[in-house]
Amino acid sequence: MRKVASCPPMRHWYSARRWVEMNAEIPSRVQPTPNAVSAPYWEACARGELSLQHCNGCQQFQFYPRTICSHCGGTDLAWQVVSGSGRVKSFTVVRRGISKAYAAPYVVALIELKEGPSMMSTIVGSEPEVVAIGASVQVGFEAWSEDIQMPVFSLT
Ligand SMILES: [Zn+2]
Repeated sequence: MRKVASCPPMRHWYSARRWVEMNAEIPSRVQPTPNAVSAPYWEACARGELSLQHCNGCQQFQFYPRTICSHCGGTDLAWQVVSGSGRVKSFTVVRRGISKAYAAPYVVALIELKEGPSMMSTIVGSEPEVVAIGASVQVGFEAWSEDIQMPVFSLT
C-alpha cells in the first residue's frame, strides 16, 4: 500500500490563519529602484517632467535609460525634457489585480511618444472601455512613494 504524506492538523490551521493574515494586509506597489543610469529619469519624474536620453551623435531619443545609444552605439547621451504627449500603440485591460495595491480594472498600455520611443505605462482617468489604439494621450505623474513619481497617461 502506498503511503500518503499527511500534515498535522496544526499545520493546516497555521496555513489558513497565515493566508487570512496575508490577505488582510494591503501591500505597497512594487517600487522601481533608480540606479546610476536611471536616476536622472526618476529625478525628472519627481519634478513632474518626462525626460528622455537624446543621442548627440545620431539625434535620436531612446527609452529606457542606457549607457549607450540603441540606434548608433554612441555614448554621447544627454537628458532632455520631452513633451509627454503620444499615442496608444497597444493596450490591455487588467481585470484582476495582482494584489490589493493594484485596484482593477486598470489599463496597461504601450505608449508611442511623440519623440519616437515607446514606453509601457497605464492609462488613468478613463473607463477602460473608451481606451483605443491610436488615441492621443498626455503624461501625468502618480505618487507611488515619497521618492517615486510614476509616469501615467490620460486620454486627451
Ligand atoms: Zn545615437
